[in-house]
Amino acid sequence: MLTPTLTHLPVNRAIRLRNVICPYCACDLTAKPVTKEHVLGRRFVPKGKLNGHWNLIVNACGPCNNRKADLENDISAITLHPEHGETHLDYDDAAKEEALRKAAKAISRRTKKPVKDSHENMKLHVPFGPNGKFSFNFTSPPQIDKDRAFELARLQLAGFFNWITYQQDEERGYWWTGGYHPLIMVRRADYGNKIIADFADAVLEWEPRILGHTAEGFYRVCVRRHPGAECWSWAMEWNGSTRLVGFLGDREVVKVVVDRLGPLQMHHHDLGNGDFMRYRTEVPLADKDDKLFALPTGATVPLTS
Ligand SMILES: [Zn+2]
Repeated sequence: MLTPTLTHLPVNRAIRLRNVICPYCACDLTAKPVTKEHVLGRRFVPKGKLNGHWNLIVNACGPCNNRKADLENDISAITLHPEHGETHLDYDDAAKEEALRKAAKAISRRTKKPVKDSHENMKLHVPFGPNGKFSFNFTSPPQIDKDRAFELARLQLAGFFNWITYQQDEERGYWWTGGYHPLIMVRRADYGNKIIADFADAVLEWEPRILGHTAEGFYRVCVRRHPGAECWSWAMEWNGSTRLVGFLGDREVVKVVVDRLGPLQMHHHDLGNGDFMRYRTEVPLADKDDKLFALPTGATVPLTS
């Protein structure tokens, strides 16, 4: 039987914490102006998708609120960009228009250009034989800066941890112990790669602490606790197109789990003369094989919808 710590919360409204410590930087909020912070930014998903759905609202200091909004800005535009990852989600016409508008307006922090103009061209020259060479041109869709994406994920996780550890009498929540260990970020076309597939298998039976699905599927989160150590796994999906996974807590425990994941399957082509080329193709994931946000075997606790 699954532990009863997973509570089925109201699906149709936000949870509001009246915390007096900023969940992002731990500053004391009693002595400074407080902002109302949506852990899932209302503009991070298509407009209106969070209306009448679950969210988490906390108090935060102004600088943290601004920093998070800045991270959400181009990351939202890129994850909603139609080329970033084909999605199963139901984009109505308004959401499609909004995605295009955002792509025109938001500046990619990687390219310093609007997201819509942030395709990245790469040319790769591979020597072949004594005199020849292959040239490959790649155009990639707008890319998220990985450090910024994992920083945004870290802030969202800090918000969630403050909620699940919230002490009513102290009016504050707490964080995980140990470190923050991001593992990998993948686009939908590569949801089935060996590292993330092995990750999903490795942590599936850990105790779920948060399983969240909101904004009509445009946001998903899962935090699971290791059965015997101060260690948690986490996974998120943003706007149906991007998944990020990682761990929190005891580094030694994380290392044991991570050492068993993967490796990614590389193709190897011998080009003669000792030259070679290695590459990897993306691995899609069939819905029936998707375990990243699944409950452990036999568990029937309702999801936090
Ligand atoms: Zn702060």
